[in-house]
Amino acid sequence: MDEILVKNTTLLHSESYTQPCSYNYKELEIILSDFSCDKHCPYCTAKITKWPKVKDDIHLLSLYVGQFKELGYKFHYVTIGGNGEPTLHSYEKLKDIVEMFDDYDIPVKRVLTSGNIFRKPEKEKYDLFVSHGWMFEVTTTSFNNKLDRKILGYEHNYFETEAFKNARIRLNYVLLKNNIGHFIEDIKNFNKKYPNIETFALKLLNVNTKTGEVDNPLSSWIIKNAIPKTERDYVASILNSKFQYNKDIFDACSWKMDDKHEVYFSWKKGKYGLHDLVWYGNKFVNYQLEEVSLPKILPKVYIASKFIKESIDNKLSFKNDFRTKLIGNEDDFVDFNNHSFIRDSSGNLKYQYLGPFYNEKASDGSLTSSICEEVVQTENELIDKCDIFIVYFDSNISPGSITELIYAAFKKKKIEIYYVKEDDISYELKSSNWYPIVSAIQIAEDEDVKTKMVKDELEVLKEIVKN
Ligand code: SF4
Repeated sequence: MDEILVKNTTLLHSESYTQPCSYNYKELEIILSDFSCDKHCPYCTAKITKWPKVKDDIHLLSLYVGQFKELGYKFHYVTIGGNGEPTLHSYEKLKDIVEMFDDYDIPVKRVLTSGNIFRKPEKEKYDLFVSHGWMFEVTTTSFNNKLDRKILGYEHNYFETEAFKNARIRLNYVLLKNNIGHFIEDIKNFNKKYPNIETFALKLLNVNTKTGEVDNPLSSWIIKNAIPKTERDYVASILNSKFQYNKDIFDACSWKMDDKHEVYFSWKKGKYGLHDLVWYGNKFVNYQLEEVSLPKILPKVYIASKFIKESIDNKLSFKNDFRTKLIGNEDDFVDFNNHSFIRDSSGNLKYQYLGPFYNEKASDGSLTSSICEEVVQTENELIDKCDIFIVYFDSNISPGSITELIYAAFKKKKIEIYYVKEDDISYELKSSNWYPIVSAIQIAEDEDVKTKMVKDELEVLKEIVKN
């Protein structure tokens, strides 16, 4: 290292770091849970930390993303990563994730890949990412691909595919003891050969992001072969001497190679992941896998009642359903989505409307399904995810609403029951639906169940939007 001229080691950064302001994050990282990968990196973070396998709940993620947009959360990046290779997950899952960010103004949308996405059989997934403006993030240790394949254990030289050459790329370059002497030359060579690489990111490896311990062969490999964080000033000084310093943000600095290309160096002085929000399975976590709370989030409400529909000009209309009035837009009540909200009487956001929608999304991705099992399962899953379950009974009997109420009671949900008073009912509870209402109260035991007699659905509407 000594032979490299170090011009300036007093750098760019102060030692102190500010906490992320409540709605401003560096990155939203979605880590998919599957260890399959076609590479064998000797420093694989996933194999070091061994997060337990979980089911990726992409629908719940989409609900949060819908809220983030509405509440003004800001992210500089959204990244799809994985315990293994994310692009090995199904096309449908990746499509759901990509599309939920379509109208979200996030400057960089990217997916990490081992290089798998550049294979011919993955063309449909490749086109999906490209057509939605996503970048691909690849990782290397050398411009010499033969050497890189040997170190990272892979055979497919994806750098030479047309798919790679035509894509927007961020290249991570891992700083090792065997490349620290010529990493500038390497990234310049990459830049010359592949002008489609927009960003070069120099990486210092983490020994173990979960525990910090060196308790496995992969962490030991890192200690033996990687450049430690203590050399960060040295690396930055080399960059400072070769390129024009640009800016620092979120624990990373950048330099300009030319007008179109940048070099990033993640400084890693702050706590790992300090500015990130990480989605894993069905919750937001930190890198120690502890659940993290969000600065602001709206309760998710499910409002059961029979659908009020009529035929206008040979088209079904739901304009008179009180839930259309609550949401404020008929289309947002008809088709499943993650952007239906209810405001209180002062106009402030109060709830995210979770369902039901007239057209729910079936497991094959289509809207509407005539498969009864599919419909019941979808609605039950929505109730599972709600924070508040509301039901409105008029004098008609609605088997769907009744069953949903009982299901919500068994699930110990917070419940609000509104029913129309029917004077001709001889029971104490003056509703044709007295039996399910009382059953729900008994099933829920001491859980939070509120019942209220109302005149009509307009009164329900007023109750729901009450401050
Ligand atoms: S590409 Fe990623 S997941 Fe695959 S072995 Fe390398 S570090 Fe692990």
